[in-house]
Amino acid sequence: MSDARPVAPDLFVAASDGARLLAGRCRSCARHHFPASPVCPYCGADGAAAEPVGPTGRLWLWTVVTTRPPGYRGTLPYGFGVVELDRIGLRVVTRLTETRLGHLHAGQPMRLVVETLCADDDGTPVEAWAFAPEGEA
Ligand SMILES: [Zn+2]
Repeated sequence: MSDARPVAPDLFVAASDGARLLAGRCRSCARHHFPASPVCPYCGADGAAAEPVGPTGRLWLWTVVTTRPPGYRGTLPYGFGVVELDRIGLRVVTRLTETRLGHLHAGQPMRLVVETLCADDDGTPVEAWAFAPEGEA
């Protein structure tokens, strides 16, 4: 675990009680966006700050990906969809740990997890976030 690296910087962090996504929060309109950017995608104001959000939400839409996108080195199939985070309402495009369509439904409670996605050429584990059905995380 100590030599693992994130799939990209500044997307998620580990907290003592689980993973959090790093969302941007606009200082002008107060809306969240993900991934974090200093410029608000809603109102265009500059100076949004990153803050940890999650880890729980509700499944909003979903599918299962059965073919390998360019550059993707993880396992197939994988779940993919949108989870709306509790309290703040931010909708996050995300991988899902569940790959059986019959085990997913609208409004399903989901929990953020960080898991090993694949390994680099040198064997370094690469970690990414995903959402798992609550109770399976
Ligand atoms: Zn804004």
